Amino acid sequence: MRGDSFISRCLAVLLVFSIAVPPALQARVTPSHGFNMFSAQEELQAGQQSAAQVAKQLPVLPDSDPVTIYVQRLGQQLAAHAPGEKWPYTFHVVNQKEINAFALPGGPVFVNVGTIQAADNEAELAGVMAHEISHVVQRHGTRAASKQMAAQLPLAILGGVMGQGALSQMAQMGLGFGIGSYFLKNSRTAESEADLLGTDIMYDTGFNPRAMADFFTKLQQEGGARGPQFFSDHPDPGNRAQSVAKEVATLPRKTSYRNDSVEFRDVRQRVSGMRPFTAQQIAERQQQQTSATNAALGGAQPSASLRSFSHRDFAISYPDNWQVFGDQNSALTIAPQSGVTQNAVAYGVMINTYQPEDANASLDQATHELLASLRQSNPELRAIGHDENIRVNGIAGKSVDLVGNSPLRDQNGRASQERDWLVALMRKDGTLLYIVSIAPDKDFESLRPTFEQMLKSLRLR
Ligand SMILES: [Zn+2]
Repeated sequence: MRGDSFISRCLAVLLVFSIAVPPALQARVTPSHGFNMFSAQEELQAGQQSAAQVAKQLPVLPDSDPVTIYVQRLGQQLAAHAPGEKWPYTFHVVNQKEINAFALPGGPVFVNVGTIQAADNEAELAGVMAHEISHVVQRHGTRAASKQMAAQLPLAILGGVMGQGALSQMAQMGLGFGIGSYFLKNSRTAESEADLLGTDIMYDTGFNPRAMADFFTKLQQEGGARGPQFFSDHPDPGNRAQSVAKEVATLPRKTSYRNDSVEFRDVRQRVSGMRPFTAQQIAERQQQQTSATNAALGGAQPSASLRSFSHRDFAISYPDNWQVFGDQNSALTIAPQSGVTQNAVAYGVMINTYQPEDANASLDQATHELLASLRQSNPELRAIGHDENIRVNGIAGKSVDLVGNSPLRDQNGRASQERDWLVALMRKDGTLLYIVSIAPDKDFESLRPTFEQMLKSLRLR
């Protein structure tokens, strides 16, 4: 019976693929749906993770910037008319010269300063944003990712991934929604869907939807010189202006439209005085950041080959170009040579035991006691988010994310922010074995796979 339902589920998936017809022209376009392995929760999570990455890699203007404030206000007006699921839309401005805009799953929309500079009126800018919102509504990013994963995964695994763990499966396959991600490059079908839905959103917000098509056409007539990135992410589906005009013809005629505003003219004035970064400058900046990380790690990026260490209380594997500080009876630090400065660990893993005051303390109580004692020696340490239950090779534990001050200084001589990932495991005798994985905040994600691998290898005695 289970086999039957599994097969029919797969067939249903295939059917959804084949009946994904182009949206019909009607009074209001019905947002297109399609095969998607991501739950709404995962959609949000994917977008938030990628947005955090974008904020690190691209020069995003602060939310308090007047240009951002304006774009957010305009974006919310448009988003109020987006059909379908009410995603939490957010709008951001990237201080980049090239004309482009992109949307991440579940709501974050990014617009380049160059796009605002190139728009002749508010309606043109609104057109780009309505188009991006339409990509979010129709979940084009996660649908493209689902299609790719379905093509790569055997059916048996695919069945298990559906609706549960698509995001982690995606990460395991080395795929993501970050900058330059294949899934942010839309197909021509996705483009015409975004144009049609964008037309309705423009209309319902009071703008002339033709402004959207006009802007795209204008960019193209410029030979794409300022917008090659835009057309690589949003390829021309062909007859853009005509299909928008056809959709407009199905909508009740309006005598007047919003076209411009004093606010837009102010913002336009402001951005005309800005000198945004070019894509090349941004790429160079990213490269510098990477080499700074390498320098801090003394070139000792964790090696993929592992070595194991046998302690009195446990065994653990670690990258073979990292070193073990301590011995089989003591607390341990496992770190790259350059990760330890003046007895403080900037990069690496510390393993120690903790004896709670009450020998019968629960895991939860013992972990909070441990946190309090760690905070006594590191007062700036604080937990972010909630502690989570975790199992490491069958042993129950707690996982807590913390931030603190790194022993490393930034270029202004201030302590840079550090991420500390604490995992506490309850041993049979009621004491805790705890592991703290440490890296400056900006490098933590790149080392996370190493930390996770080490944790997975841990065997208590
Ligand atoms: Zn697009």
